[in-house]
Amino acid sequence: PAPNRKKETSPEKRISPSPSSRSKENLSNDDIPKKPSEKDLDEKKDEKEDEYDLILKDIPNIDKALGKQILQDIVVHGDEVYWDDIAGLNGAKNSLKEAVVYPFLRPDLFMGLRQPVTGMLLFGPPGTGKTMLARAVACESKSTFFSISASSLTSKYLGESEKLVRALFTIARKLSPAIVFVDEIDSILGSRNQDGENESSRRIKNEFLVQWSALSSAAAGKDDKRGSKFVDDKRVLVLAATNLPWSIDEAARRRFVRRQYIPLPEDETRMVHIKKLLANQKHTLTDEDFKTLIELTQGYSGSDITSLAKDAAMGPLRELGDQLLHTDRDNIRPIELKDFENSLEYIKPSVSKEGLEKYEEWALQFGSSG
Ligand code: ADP
Repeated sequence: PAPNRKKETSPEKRISPSPSSRSKENLSNDDIPKKPSEKDLDEKKDEKEDEYDLILKDIPNIDKALGKQILQDIVVHGDEVYWDDIAGLNGAKNSLKEAVVYPFLRPDLFMGLRQPVTGMLLFGPPGTGKTMLARAVACESKSTFFSISASSLTSKYLGESEKLVRALFTIARKLSPAIVFVDEIDSILGSRNQDGENESSRRIKNEFLVQWSALSSAAAGKDDKRGSKFVDDKRVLVLAATNLPWSIDEAARRRFVRRQYIPLPEDETRMVHIKKLLANQKHTLTDEDFKTLIELTQGYSGSDITSLAKDAAMGPLRELGDQLLHTDRDNIRPIELKDFENSLEYIKPSVSKEGLEKYEEWALQFGSSG
């Protein structure tokens, strides 16, 4: 069973107290908490810089500026997500535990024939929790989490993309165990004949495939001779997500040994999700109301449900108009079923029935079971 851990403060927060709490410790004469001074902020920045320098120090041939950019923008700090935060998706959670979390936590048990996979694809309609799952995998397996959207490689980092991909994998190995999460993977591993692949995206794709293959060969076959320490050091997994699995070309698709379908949430999952969202809110929804709501939200994705609940929660405030400014918090009425019914009028499911069928067909043909 998944460890039922409480959310911890992120290491970053633990190491360096916020500038404001620091200035409170040195109360000045007038006892007024100070704004973070330039000096505090500079100090914090210096600490980070030192930390980055230390990591990059023994990586040969790495562009230091690019390395720092990766550590700063692509490595995710804080923002923890655990299994319990994600409603439902038990099949996907189990599959990820077996493929990634257990092997990362117990590398000694996962060698030879039990060698873990180096790539896993999460596919399905948008807003179903793929990104959340990836983040939870990293937290639960105590791994460094690198997160990049593939489309930003071809836009934001254009010109430096290949170099970035190379540096990214090098740093991931250095900071292993690590999860390299690539969202919108279809935009770099798309079929050639689709939107006329240009020279630069072809090069990015090749570099990505080369780096990824290097991971598999580093992990495979050498563990027995070098012992578990070696394997432990090299645990890096590419976790990719896509809403357009059919756009990934065949050769790239085959490289994802595990292809996990992340479907729209079932009744039970929507129930858990809505209850979780309302847990700390004043509301009058009865079991009967929840059942009605579950019926009414068939076809809604996880993020559709989140948007719906956020909108419904605005109901009691919305009807107050300007009165809102003068109404006591305790006098705001609770959220009711009718608020959800009103919001359902204009917050519609983002995936159509036809769209859904396409995912299901693809899952049947190419998905891993589970
Ligand atoms: P995807 O990557 O599949 O497009 P995300 O993981 O980014 O979807 O989910 C978007 C948002 O929807 C999340 O931030 C969360 O608020 C909500 N959400 C989606 N699925 C779930 C779920 N299973 N449990 C809880 N929240 C969810």
